[in-house]
Amino acid sequence: MRLKLAIAALLVCGVGFVLHERKSALENHLGTVATELGGRHVHVHCQSFAGNLLDVSSEAGSVRFDASGIPSDTTDLKRPICSALARFPHDVKSPSYACVYTNVDCPQKIWEDVLAVHTLAHETWHLHGYGNEFGADPAAAQATADYAYVRFYPNEPDEYRRPDCANGGPLDLRPTDPVWP
Ligand SMILES: [Zn+2]
Repeated sequence: MRLKLAIAALLVCGVGFVLHERKSALENHLGTVATELGGRHVHVHCQSFAGNLLDVSSEAGSVRFDASGIPSDTTDLKRPICSALARFPHDVKSPSYACVYTNVDCPQKIWEDVLAVHTLAHETWHLHGYGNEFGADPAAAQATADYAYVRFYPNEPDEYRRPDCANGGPLDLRPTDPVWP
């Protein structure tokens, strides 16, 4: 009986350890992305399972600023945002992601993926010094677009890419705007 209990305890601890390792690997990876987007070394913390259960707040992520307006080095992301970011590299290659390129309504899961990427970009702008929401969000939208264009677009299957996807080209949504994408 005692042995069985010990084995059960080891199994529970083992699963907890694996989940913890997976969470910190994701946090490390997201921290690298957030650092690359802005140029200052920053970290991402994902909400724990228990934290998510007890959570009553509505924002997807946050960055603390001190009294003199200096941002913390770490952003806290809600657990569903981290889960979506973890599956994003897989989902972005799936056929259902095509809704994003064609600008039509997306399935809930893909919508959450895009929201999660945008949230990461938004909080990254807070980490890099934008204290207000109206400064962070347009910058985040542009960073999301920049990142998608630089990181994801070149890795898309051939049928998703076109040589005329360029500034001022026929697919540019703002052809007269020199800012690209
Ligand atoms: Zn914000």
